[in-house]
Amino acid sequence: FKTVSILDVPFINTTNAAFVTQLQTDILAHQNRFVVTANPEILMYAREHPDYQQVLTQADYITPDGIGVIQGAQILGTPLPERITGYDTLLSLLTWGAQHQQRIFLLGAKPAVLKQVVEKVKDTYPGLVIAGALDGYFQDADAVVNQIAAAKPDMIFVATGFPKQEFFIAKYRHRVAGLWMGVGGSFDVLAG
Ligand code: UDP
Repeated sequence: FKTVSILDVPFINTTNAAFVTQLQTDILAHQNRFVVTANPEILMYAREHPDYQQVLTQADYITPDGIGVIQGAQILGTPLPERITGYDTLLSLLTWGAQHQQRIFLLGAKPAVLKQVVEKVKDTYPGLVIAGALDGYFQDADAVVNQIAAAKPDMIFVATGFPKQEFFIAKYRHRVAGLWMGVGGSFDVLAG
């Protein structure tokens, strides 16, 4: 995709539909991909935290998640077509994944929330394979990554909130091929 830079962060200049289509292609080709859905809060944080800015440079796709980013692009004279949120992208991928027997790994949220998410996903997307699910309050990240690798997922959704989830993905993504996406509080929404 072409990109539009705001505060040195390159946002993909595309629509939800075209983005999800690209992700499907990447997933079917077993590519290693890292998606960040960035809102203004993330942009501000990155400005003040070079280590987080460095993580953003490693993302394959950064999407404009928040009306503030869309407005910023407009003001700079380089408009972006629409918001692309983590939650919407998650739902699109779950829907598509269910039609293609895709394997997902769910990492994050409190144990009770995660349990509800797993039940909800089983009910709503019966074609999906839940290859694994772990809550977001683990101590041993290395053991978690080993579990993810053993589960052989096509998509790994990390819902431990920003900036934690992006640091985690940047550090460990190369140990497991597939799509890695930080989805913030999405599990709480999905559970509720
Ligand atoms: N969370 C987690 N592990 C942590 C901290 C948070 O799994 O160590 C989860 C939390 O339970 C919630 C999600 O991360 O489900 C998002 O948290 P928050 O609302 O703080 O993040 P944001 O939505 O702002 O990214």
